[in-house]
Amino acid sequence: MEPLRGGALATLSPDASAILKKADPQSSNAAWALRYVASLPNVLCVLSGMTLPEHVEDNLRTFSPLRPLTDAERKTLDQALVAYRKHLAVPCTACRYSMPCPADVEIPKIFGLYNQYKISGNKWLFSNNYKAIPEDSRASACVDCGRCVKHCPQKINIPLELRKISAEFKS
Ligand code: SF4
Repeated sequence: MEPLRGGALATLSPDASAILKKADPQSSNAAWALRYVASLPNVLCVLSGMTLPEHVEDNLRTFSPLRPLTDAERKTLDQALVAYRKHLAVPCTACRYSMPCPADVEIPKIFGLYNQYKISGNKWLFSNNYKAIPEDSRASACVDCGRCVKHCPQKINIPLELRKISAEFKS
């Protein structure tokens, strides 16, 4: 399940995408992720959510037939991962298992905006979108109760990340 980390791996940072495109100009980022998962030992079925007909078509191409990853392609993925991780501030997949927050903090939305900002570098856009979140649901509303941390499958220290984002927004 979640081979694209809730869709997050379909849109990588430009440098990570460029590495994958150079290695295989015909493949989408999603195709790389699906082939990675489907090539793992003992994986018989890959479940991927699709919202557009283009996603269905792309996934059908990827699995008709499946081409298991070669060693060279694994090395390419490793290089793309290094590039991608340089930009990703919080490894949130927007699965929403951390919700609801008793203080009404919009956890996945805030992390989504922040990661988009770190990948694009567009602070103006981040600031504008962040301001659209009601003030009592922003990162600063966190009361550090720890409930979300227990439910986060990515083991993110959510209150700590929220404090950092709040401080950065204020600056
Ligand atoms: S630690 Fe903060 S964000 Fe997490 S559930 Fe508690 S109040 Fe909400």
